[in-house]
Amino acid sequence: MTQSKSSNSPTRIVIVGGGAGGLELATRLGKSLGKSGKAQVLLVDSTLTHIWKPLLHEVAAGTINSFEDELNYFAHASKNYFEFHLGQMKGIDREAKRIILEPLTDGLGHEIAPERSLRYDNLVISIGSTSNDFGTVGAKENCIFLDSRAQADRFQREFLNLYLQAQARSLETTSPQVLNIAIIGAGATGVELAAELHHATHEFIRYGLNSIDPKNVSITLIEAADRILPVLSTQNSAAATKQLLDFNIDVMTSRRVTAIHPDSVECDGGILIPATLKVWSAGIKAPDVLKEIAGLETNRINQLVVRPTLQTTRDDSIFAFGDCACYIPEGAERPVPPRAQVANQQAIVLAKILKAKLAGKPLPTFTFSDKGSLISLGETNTVGNLVNKINVQGMFARIMYLSLYRLHQVALHGVFKTSVLMFKDLLSRTSGPTLKLH
Ligand SMILES: Cc1cc2nc3c(=O)[nH]c(=O)nc-3n(C[C@H](O)[C@H](O)[C@H](O)COP(=O)(O)OP(=O)(O)OC[C@H]3O[C@@H](n4cnc5c(N)ncnc54)[C@H](O)[C@@H]3O)c2cc1C
Repeated sequence: MTQSKSSNSPTRIVIVGGGAGGLELATRLGKSLGKSGKAQVLLVDSTLTHIWKPLLHEVAAGTINSFEDELNYFAHASKNYFEFHLGQMKGIDREAKRIILEPLTDGLGHEIAPERSLRYDNLVISIGSTSNDFGTVGAKENCIFLDSRAQADRFQREFLNLYLQAQARSLETTSPQVLNIAIIGAGATGVELAAELHHATHEFIRYGLNSIDPKNVSITLIEAADRILPVLSTQNSAAATKQLLDFNIDVMTSRRVTAIHPDSVECDGGILIPATLKVWSAGIKAPDVLKEIAGLETNRINQLVVRPTLQTTRDDSIFAFGDCACYIPEGAERPVPPRAQVANQQAIVLAKILKAKLAGKPLPTFTFSDKGSLISLGETNTVGNLVNKINVQGMFARIMYLSLYRLHQVALHGVFKTSVLMFKDLLSRTSGPTLKLH
């Protein structure tokens, strides 16, 4: 089944991927071009709800409830003058200017809709990234990856189940129960997850799930580089290491993981680290669907190579941005990093680029303005570098870190609704449990 273009229909902009960048772009374009009828804006995502990806380590630890922080695409689209289509892109027909969507199933194997295609005049691809396990033996089978809300929810459920199991066992035994967790990769995701899990192990006690003493929870963070958080200054990396060690987290650097087994992680030299829960957070790649897609230029991690106008190098009607795009600024050696702040800045300029293209004007270009990086180390601490490499730590850095999510909400809902949401979060934090226990 295909959708055809009627002669007088407005130009159609299709955005595939409603994440940190794509949803902000759809909202901006909907409120401008969609509202004025100058373009039909369509967002396609493979899930029905959006959750801001930098929250996933908190979803995994259960320290936030994914049901409370999710946004429904249909509801948001109807308020912001764009259309939403549920579907997973599997290919592009550049000649016919159509994207092809996988058949839609209900998760139990029943087909809801067959394979179909969707026409575009301008196509924007913002489908993010997935973990890159570099083909490590056993990683796919034995690790959890924090690529999606479903995976974070799965980790939270398995984590909780281990506490439920321990509680049941405690009826028969008084011997101390232990829990071993290994996190492979000490970039932002791995470090933030380690700190959040440490926090969660103490929260379980508050709710009576006290069969595993936090002292008997071993969290091991394994990193191949010689220090954690290589994107931060050595000073901040050292501060984060100290904080993790204070939390009793084992930090292993210069250690390469060679295989993952059901109950352990194997490192160089055959060293085995026992681990019941194993999380892989050691690198990213763009989704495999982009590998050599429709003759477009991609790099070795499947990212679409783009120009300063965020147009792909071989097709002026196809744009890409966020984690799935590779943009190397002129004179730079490396592409801009796969971070939410890049996706946010690109969404802002891409809205202007698309408006200029529709109006037949010269296209603005993207310039990355690095605002620094902040890494959350649990409830009260954060470390990071701000613009001009200023080091920040502690509560001030924590407040700045929390404001990043609020800025994403402002981009989606405006200041008033974001204030209401902040108030709602405050109320549910003070009245409800601080850990998801179901
Ligand atoms: C645990 C964690 C913590 C992080 N913390 C930070 C942080 O503190 N600061 C920071 O700057 N960055 C952080 N990041 C990185 C940040 O989340 C990403 O850089 C950012 O989300 C990229 O935005 P995006 O729009 O490119 O992709 P995403 O936000 O990943 O969105 C991609 C969207 O595409 C959809 N999709 C995927 N494939 C298809 C398909 N084939 N068809 C249709 N839809 C599809 C997905 O459902 C998703 O909605 C963190 C990441 C993780 C995992």
